[in-house]
Order: sequence, then structure tokens, then C-alpha cells
Amino acid sequence: MTSSPLQSATAPETGDPGSATAAHRPVSFADLTTIHVGGPVGRLVEATTSQELVDAVRSADAAGTPVLVIGGGSNLLVGDDGFDGTVVRVATSGLRVDGTRMHVDAGVEWDLVVRTALDHGLAGIEALSGIPGSTGGTPVQNVGAYGASTSDWLESVTVLDRESGEVEVWDNARCGFGSHRSSAFKYTDRYVVVDVTFALRRSDESAPVRYAALAERLGVRIGESVSAREVRDAVIALRTDRGMVWDEAEHDSWSVGSFFLNPIVSSVPPEALGSPQFTDPKGIKLSAAWLIEHAGFSRGYGERVGTGRATLSTRHVLAVTNRGGASAADVTALASHVRAGVRDKYGITLIPECRLVNCTLD
Ligand SMILES: Cc1cc2nc3c(=O)[nH]c(=O)nc-3n(C[C@H](O)[C@H](O)[C@H](O)COP(=O)(O)OP(=O)(O)OC[C@H]3O[C@@H](n4cnc5c(N)ncnc54)[C@H](O)[C@@H]3O)c2cc1C
Repeated sequence: MTSSPLQSATAPETGDPGSATAAHRPVSFADLTTIHVGGPVGRLVEATTSQELVDAVRSADAAGTPVLVIGGGSNLLVGDDGFDGTVVRVATSGLRVDGTRMHVDAGVEWDLVVRTALDHGLAGIEALSGIPGSTGGTPVQNVGAYGASTSDWLESVTVLDRESGEVEVWDNARCGFGSHRSSAFKYTDRYVVVDVTFALRRSDESAPVRYAALAERLGVRIGESVSAREVRDAVIALRTDRGMVWDEAEHDSWSVGSFFLNPIVSSVPPEALGSPQFTDPKGIKLSAAWLIEHAGFSRGYGERVGTGRATLSTRHVLAVTNRGGASAADVTALASHVRAGVRDKYGITLIPECRLVNCTLD
């Protein structure tokens, strides 16, 4: 696994140590995101302490400047015109283990949190190994994988409410976590996540395994536990097979992860009856990957669409990838094309899971 673009991007040139720094030379979202597309950043501010983060957002708000807060850029697709405002990149790094609690600054790489938990004999989040991005991004996107979710283990979040200007601590119940990757922080720029506290379990044993492919890989039944480290290793292996571990050298991972959410429908169209189905409080959840594949889009699809520089991953149809030199327009053109094919076949409109900024799908 290599570091995310967040860690490897060139640091701003100017500024005093200990204060947020502003870069006035061209930086583009292609440098700051895992899919490596997107136009210029208006003004980049890198916040290395929580106070800098709060101050940077408050001062841009006071000046009436548009603000975009970013972490690892792993669930972000910005258009080729970029973002003409202040981009606050969260680069805070505090991580403290206190008994079974972990207090983590928003800028800390998520996988470092998983590794640190295991090193301290704390279990719970091991199935969330290998997900790129920052810890601050996890409550926003309500990150989940292999039957686990960050919201299962999150105790509280410190947020800046940009409307009131106040910094508040929210408990889990207030965060509005839902089954469909939803949270009170998603689809709004009102809140900035400053830090997150997780309450884990002291054990070398994993949380019960809840995902069929993971159980199969581990050779256990659903609901059984194994060592937490074994779960991490199995998850990383599964993710690597699927191109879902971010790696600069691996174009299948130049993506935003799964581009589309699994759709929830009230009734299953006859053409989609073969899809895996999951009960959800809001209806029946179908597999977006199954729908895409059975609408005729196989792995690697896209070489003959537009410039061919964006294709579906050669390992997983749910990831739209940049094969090198793709523009945001290439990515949205392919995603729109696939979405239209799924809509034509099943009458279902897939919804992007990632955040789109200054770009849309047709
Ligand atoms: C190869 C690959 C595999 C992936 N696998 C998974 C997976 O298995 N499961 C899964 O759920 N996701 C997955 N993702 C998506 C992504 O890793 C997660 O959504 C991640 O949590 C995003 O964090 P980030 O810091 O990169 O957010 P960014 O991409 O920087 O931002 C995403 C959104 O969150 C907002 N945001 C970020 N930080 C903050 C903050 N501190 N305060 C307020 N808003 C903030 C941004 O404004 C933006 O709207 C994958 C992505 C890739 C590239």
C-alpha cells in the first residue's frame, strides 16, 4: 500500500511554521485526489492543527469566500474547471489511545487508525482495513466495508458548525448515520469534522464476521470471530484482488472507490431479479455491481467510450478509473454512459457515492 495523494502532494511554499499556510502557485485537484483528475485549486490552505483548521474555515467564511474542505481526496471528483475558492486540506495528525478509546484528529490517515488499534489490542474496526482517506472523511461518508461501518464504533465527533461558528461535540446518535452510507455531514458543507473518538473493545478477537466473501476467505461461518489481525490480512487481500487498495502504481485504484451506491428500490424490476438483494429499512437494496455487469458493462469497459482514458476497473465494475491522462469530463462521460445503460435496462438511476464538485452526470 502506498500513501495517498494527500501525503505525497507537494506542500505549500509559504507561511509561518505553526500557522495555516496558503499556496498561491497552481495546484490542481489531479494532485490532491486518488482519481487524479480535476482542475485548478483557487487557494490552498493546509491546516496542521485543529485550531488552524477551525481558524482557516472561519476566516474564509468571514471573507465570504467559498470553502471546500478535503481530506485524502479519495471520494472526491472535481470538474476540469476546478474550484475557485479556498480549499482547506486537513493535515492534522494527533492520535491518542486512552484505554479502549481512540481520539483521532480529522487529518490522520484512516488505515493508520486501524493499524494502531490492532497494535494496542483493540478490536472492532479491523474489517475497515485498507480504506484510503482521512479519519475526518469517515463520519462524513459513513464509511463501511465487509459488513463493518465506522459508525458502529464511533463515540463522538467534534464539529465546527459553519452556520453558528461554534465548535461542538456530537455523540453518535446525533450524527444521523443511516444504512445507506448516509450521515448528517454528507451532502452539506455546513459541518467541518475536527476530530473523532472511537470506543473499541479490548480483545485480540475480531468483531463477528458479517460478510460472506470475507467469511469464505477466512474459512469461518457468518457470525464467527477469528483473530482481528487475520481479519485485517484477509480484508487487505480481498481488497487488493479488487483493486480497492489505493496504490499510485496501480491504475485500477485511481478511482473514488465504488462510484455508485447500491440502489434501494420498493420493488425489484423483473430484469433485476437475479441481483443479490438485501433488506434495508427503506426498501430492497440491490447490487449496483450486478446491475452494471448485467447491463453489459464488463470489467475494463470504456476503451471505446470517448477518449478511452477512463474505463471501469479491470478488477471491479463498480470503480470508474483513470488509466492515465483522463480528465474529469472523461470520467463523468463514462459514468453517465454506464448509468444510462443501467437505467435503460432496469429503469433504475444509480446515484454516485462520491462527492461531485463542479461536475455532474448526464
Ligand atoms: C481505492 C479506493 C477504495 C475505497 N474503498 C472504500 C470502501 O471500502 N468503503 C467506503 O466507504 N469508501 C471507500 N472508498 C471511498 C473513500 O476512501 C472514503 O469515502 C473516505 O472516507 C473518504 O475520505 P477522504 O478523507 O479521502 O475524503 P475526501 O475525498 O477528501 O472528501 C470526501 C467528502 O468529505 C468531505 N470531507 C472530508 N474531510 C472532511 C472533514 N474533516 N470535515 C468535513 N468534511 C470533510 C469533503 O468535503 C467531501 O465532501 C474508497 C476509495 C478508493 C479510492
